[in-house]
Amino acid sequence: MQLVVLGRDGVINALPQAGFVRGPEEWQAIPGSLRAIARLNHARRHVAVITHQPALGAGRLTLDALLRIHIRMQRELDAEGGQVDALLYCPHPEDVSCECRKPQPGLLQELGQRLGADLRQAVVIGDTLADIEAARAVGARPVLVRSGRGEHTLAALRGDPRLKGVTATADLAAAVAWLLNDPSGTSAAGSPAGGSRATGRGKKAEHGS
Ligand SMILES: [Zn+2]
Repeated sequence: MQLVVLGRDGVINALPQAGFVRGPEEWQAIPGSLRAIARLNHARRHVAVITHQPALGAGRLTLDALLRIHIRMQRELDAEGGQVDALLYCPHPEDVSCECRKPQPGLLQELGQRLGADLRQAVVIGDTLADIEAARAVGARPVLVRSGRGEHTLAALRGDPRLKGVTATADLAAAVAWLLNDPSGTSAAGSPAGGSRATGRGKKAEHGS
């Protein structure tokens, strides 16, 4: 089964003002994201979530709060008929170097082992350059969503070769719609988001078409 790895904040749920989700009451799904996960399940994909929660290691978020956030996410996902096969997080604060924070591929490798998935066939859907680079480090295919920090990522890296070959979509729902219409998951990148927003400068980030 193909593995699809999702970022959490900015991909599944909106990124709150505080910069991180402080409790379950602040966890708000991005419209269509939960149904998109259910679509992946129904299409027989493994779905996993990897998230960086530095507030945990910095003592600004308790493990209990993180668990309650994930219980809420799972409950809302249940209501849409979806599930995630694994959810891994990096708890380390920004000033600690570790193997698990993207762009390091540690958690992707762990997922591959746990789920018996071939990472070279996997798709990683995220909103930052770190997501893209982690995907590349294990030979997986990166997809960038414009939700969360995605629009900023695209703008900041306009014309940057690190975006070459990266498919950009509006959000997770669009990414999944694109993915499921492209069963190989490895063909040349399209630009399902319909090209770049009309910002009037730079070149669009999508390549390969
Ligand atoms: Zn870490």
